[in-house]
Amino acid sequence: MNGAKKPVWTKEFGISHAVTPTGRDSETSQVKSIACKFCIHFGRQEFDPNSQKRRKRSQKTQTWGEGWRKDVIAIHHKEMHGKRWEHYSNLNKEGKEAYFSVEIKNRGTHPSGIIMNLFM
Ligand SMILES: [Zn+2]
Repeated sequence: MNGAKKPVWTKEFGISHAVTPTGRDSETSQVKSIACKFCIHFGRQEFDPNSQKRRKRSQKTQTWGEGWRKDVIAIHHKEMHGKRWEHYSNLNKEGKEAYFSVEIKNRGTHPSGIIMNLFM
């Protein structure tokens, strides 16, 4: 086999990079596109603590089609979800798996802080 290597979706990859499949090939059921879970759950970071200005919040979820690259995903996470990504990447596998489900379950009652309480 030669040619460009296509990244293969694994559950582990999804966990380690905080991404989730959004489309699959109908015949092979191979994952064709993925989306950023931080964007899905929290939106892009709208506030830059180093600046007094509020950035306009964007609700657009970042997705990547076939041929996604880990380094590109990491750059997106760093730029858009700096603090969360930093925190997330330091969690163990169980922590990463729980990260989003915990936030969702407690959304509304514990708008922030719940993750801090559980993992820090
Ligand atoms: Zn994102």
